[in-house]
Amino acid sequence: MYLYNSATRRKAEFTTHTPGHVEMYTCGPTVYHFAHIGNLRSYLCEDVLEKYFRYAGYSVNRVMNITDVGHLTSDADAGEDKMLKGARREHKSVMEIARFYTDRFFDDCRKLNIRRPDTVQPATGCVDEYIKIISRLMETGYAYFAGGNVYFDTSRLPRYYVFNAHDKDALAVGVRDGVEADANKRNSNDFVLWFTKSKFEDQALKWDSPWGTGYPGWHIECSGISLKYNGEYLDLHCGGVDNAFPHHTNEIAQSESYLGHPWCPWWFHVAHLNTASGKMSKSDGEFLTVSLLEERGYDPLDYRFFCLQSHYRKMLVFTWENLDNARGAYRKLVKRIAALNPADGAVEEDVLRTFREKFVGVVGNDLNTASGLSMLYDVLKAGTNDATKLAVLGGYDEVLGLSLLDKAEAVREQERRSASASHEGYTITGESGPDPEVEALILSRYEAKKAKNFAEADRIRDALRARGVELTDVPGGAVWKRA
Ligand SMILES: [Zn+2]
Repeated sequence: MYLYNSATRRKAEFTTHTPGHVEMYTCGPTVYHFAHIGNLRSYLCEDVLEKYFRYAGYSVNRVMNITDVGHLTSDADAGEDKMLKGARREHKSVMEIARFYTDRFFDDCRKLNIRRPDTVQPATGCVDEYIKIISRLMETGYAYFAGGNVYFDTSRLPRYYVFNAHDKDALAVGVRDGVEADANKRNSNDFVLWFTKSKFEDQALKWDSPWGTGYPGWHIECSGISLKYNGEYLDLHCGGVDNAFPHHTNEIAQSESYLGHPWCPWWFHVAHLNTASGKMSKSDGEFLTVSLLEERGYDPLDYRFFCLQSHYRKMLVFTWENLDNARGAYRKLVKRIAALNPADGAVEEDVLRTFREKFVGVVGNDLNTASGLSMLYDVLKAGTNDATKLAVLGGYDEVLGLSLLDKAEAVREQERRSASASHEGYTITGESGPDPEVEALILSRYEAKKAKNFAEADRIRDALRARGVELTDVPGGAVWKRA
């Protein structure tokens, strides 16, 4: 595979410490609120990358943290504690907030077909690791104690700015974040490893340490968790592009200073999802979540399809119109796959292998998912039987994660049911255009009514209403439209 590496700013052939095996780490969410779909774009692209590795024959060990302590509203250790902010907002404890939003995050991932990493570790579960690392950094002079906190001394490093060539003044805290500079710091970009003298007197989570009772900084948790579960040689570290500085820069500084050798050669950063008006964030405008997409009648996988249409290193502009276009293309694709006959012929193994190798090559060019999608259409047009086409498409979908075969089968099933319903003189008319899922629900309601199961029929009507569908029974069928 050829992969762009943000640490070298070059695309090169991807190599791993142990041939055929990838140790992969992903920065997880700070669980103080719902994830918006811009955050989820990163996890989605990382998911495709992991699945690509497996499809191409690698074994993968993927680790992700859950930030439930220590992440302040400014990534440079200033501002408010995000978890405390969430707890105050909802009149709950920090741990209740953490549990709730961790579960919501994985609900969203499941809906988007994002595989749960092999290891998911909340930051609060690895405090001993952080203390071990910080203790060694103190012994070797990479860290210092000032004003009650432990800081990493960035001036000890010959090269601190790994991901950018910016001058350090432009990146200095205070200039960048509009927050007060921390007078305890020796250098403007030194960062906190351990807080004791916190301005948050109501900080709920505290641990004993050699430097006093307190809690870890945000950056140390990823180093600690990765070193524990990925080992000393990490192959690939992933995250959103806004994590590159200061978060990933600080992870490299502390991990390599602790280990005394290079830590992670490959860095994978996913570009932002923006709205037409600018960078998408939780603080301004509409809060775009997976639930909102569902409320508006989208399948979360419409969004997955939308993301796959563009390259992970390109900024992606979200508009409802763009999402509609993606949904239209996705539905058409599923329909075409549904038109294939699974009983047509036997799988031609050599054709399957050739297509597989081609896909590995095409998508292996810096995770080119758009070309991966267009290969689906090549398969549909190929001169082979339908059984082989379905086998190839199923393989590609192990990487793309669009549930193509399941959805195609659902369309076939619905067509069978529609055919039998229309045989009985029942027709469904969609004034807002066809929608297989809505029509399947309307058919289920018709069948429930026919079986005199009126409670079920009412339940389905309510479910349709919750999706914004207005249903009118007419002689010989039903007419529906979006409210
Ligand atoms: Zn991280």
